[in-house]
Amino acid sequence: MSDSVSVDPVRYLSTRDDAPTPATASFEEVLLAGLAHDGGLYVPVEVPRFTRDEIAAMSGLSYAELATRVVARFAGSHLGTVPLAPLLAETYAGFGHPAVAPLKQLESGLWLMELFHGPTLAFKDYALQLVGRLFEALLQQRGERVTIVGATSGDTGSAAIEACRDRDAVDIFILYPNGRTSEVQRRQMTTVDASNVHAIAIDGTFDDCQDLVKAMFADATFRDGFNLSAVNSINWARILAQIVYYFAAGVALGAPHRPVAFSVPTGNFGNVYAAHIARRTGLPVAQLVVGTNRNDILARFLATGKMTIGTVEPSLSPSMDIQVSSNFERLLFELMDRDGAAVAGAMRDFRASGTLPVSPAQWHAAQRLFTGHRVDDAATRATIAATWRDSGELLDPHSAVAVAAARAVTRDRNVPMVALACAHPAKFPEAVEAATGQHPPLPASLADLMTRRERITVLPNQLAAVQRFVADHARPIPAGRLRPAPGSLANTSEEIGHNQSAAVSSRRVGDAA
Ligand SMILES: *Cc1c(COP(=O)(O)O)cnc(C)c1O
Repeated sequence: MSDSVSVDPVRYLSTRDDAPTPATASFEEVLLAGLAHDGGLYVPVEVPRFTRDEIAAMSGLSYAELATRVVARFAGSHLGTVPLAPLLAETYAGFGHPAVAPLKQLESGLWLMELFHGPTLAFKDYALQLVGRLFEALLQQRGERVTIVGATSGDTGSAAIEACRDRDAVDIFILYPNGRTSEVQRRQMTTVDASNVHAIAIDGTFDDCQDLVKAMFADATFRDGFNLSAVNSINWARILAQIVYYFAAGVALGAPHRPVAFSVPTGNFGNVYAAHIARRTGLPVAQLVVGTNRNDILARFLATGKMTIGTVEPSLSPSMDIQVSSNFERLLFELMDRDGAAVAGAMRDFRASGTLPVSPAQWHAAQRLFTGHRVDDAATRATIAATWRDSGELLDPHSAVAVAAARAVTRDRNVPMVALACAHPAKFPEAVEAATGQHPPLPASLADLMTRRERITVLPNQLAAVQRFVADHARPIPAGRLRPAPGSLANTSEEIGHNQSAAVSSRRVGDAA
């Protein structure tokens, strides 16, 4: 029924636009740009709302049909001339479970939503598989091509590679630190047999990889010559794709008639922010739990009202080893009454002083929206062990943070709580085995990963060498089709890879140059 309602297409604005009448952009523009010109993040000018009847009518839809309703509300029914429905069907058809994001009951009132049935076994596939297809569809219509470069410490690189493989409009180069990823992570990148995919081992650290990518974007001739781009964690399209599974879980558990709560293992604040937008869109969400590991800047902020950067410490859940959560700026924009000048100023202060200026009123507003909880490594291990013992489920360490936080916080026991399982246990076998004595097997689709042929390119930590490799392997960009305005994508490269140092994170959040 919602398909027949015609709605005005949603427009987007930057969180840092300080003009009296902010400029607005279309979904297509937002998709390709990633970051706004002023360094801000795109958010809808107005968040669309589903009526109760429309949410009731979502019951019984397939995941792809539900995704079509949700995505169309924010992006329209077509991307240029390409209809979205078949594209969404294709996106999720390859996932390893017919429900795509199945729910499992762990105990009375507590559910697990499995978000690890995509090709690389982590929830990032749910968004990146769609974003890769959206990029391809839009670029092909425009006769354009991009060269995606990024750095990864492990997980995001493989998800981006799987999203871009075999796409005509995209060449992708992912830099990873030689010898510093797990074997599963490396193999997920180096065994992809696609001529447009290039995984490059750099003799250096993850930060060196980040710096090389940043230097490629800073070289204007190189950047424009190869139409450099990124599929980064602040791209609105990734948030949008993540809204879908909150609706899927909510409707399965009784929405719109009954509310639901979620516990989300949080790093860059993208996933739990998507849950917040699902709530703003009309899904009855009673509570959102922000689960953090020892890198607990968000939990500390919600407890004390102070957001101060610390140093990143390694934990059992590396995808959450983050100090500055890049998507938090979107919430800040809301807390600051959508005042772009105030957000721009706050982010400048944050970069300069390491402390985000937040008023008591803004802090209290955030507390009404989110419940924070920190889970250390000992509690993570204990949760993996107890969950295996009590329910026979193997949790990866990130999922265990969500489950532990869900159990720990004060909540309404009449509201079903859904903890997000964001990675397959086989992605983090050492931690799972240490806690349970069980070695989690890889799913059938990846069962032969350890014997597949690898294509390994090792390069020195030198910009010239990496640029030469890109120049030798990227397909030529069509003449006269250079797309990015200078600076528009220049700082998005750092977004691939989410296991950053505080220095890198803060630079990423604040830097518009
Ligand atoms: C990326 C990731 C997270 C953190 O998600 P954010 O959207 O950055 O908050 C948590 N768990 C896993 C397994 C991840 O890959």
